[in-house]
Amino acid sequence: MSSNLIKNTLGACRSAIAIFKDRRRSKAARRDFWALGMEECTGRLNALGMSPSEFDNAMHLPCAAQDLLTLAMRSVGIDPNSFHTLEFAYGRFMYRTCITCPHRRRCHSHLEAFDFEDRYREFCPNKDNFSELLRQRMQSQVGCKLS
Ligand code: SF4
Repeated sequence: MSSNLIKNTLGACRSAIAIFKDRRRSKAARRDFWALGMEECTGRLNALGMSPSEFDNAMHLPCAAQDLLTLAMRSVGIDPNSFHTLEFAYGRFMYRTCITCPHRRRCHSHLEAFDFEDRYREFCPNKDNFSELLRQRMQSQVGCKLS
């Protein structure tokens, strides 16, 4: 077997294993979520602006069990834990957009390669929200320096 063929075969096996692990994690996350009870789950989903069926469908997307929004925010220079960010993210349904995002695999790859910050404007449905959060952060920094 040529070394290229071996490399390609190994690569295919690795991605098959990664997809399998990803599915297993998503299944477990979905099971753990619904174990909280219908009332609790419906309340949480309402806060995100999602229906139970939207949530179940989203759990079949790549990297469904991972919080890509927090990682993406950190990557572009937004503090994901600040009160303002959390309030803004809920108000703009950023979590819902992220959980149902059709570009999760690409997003995850760029986050792993540490080049999300350079590439997200090409595909991220939350890009305008990131821009707005960054603009507001800049404004508040300028305001602090002037006062
Ligand atoms: S591309 Fe944007 S919206 Fe989609 S998963 Fe990544 S951060 Fe979320």
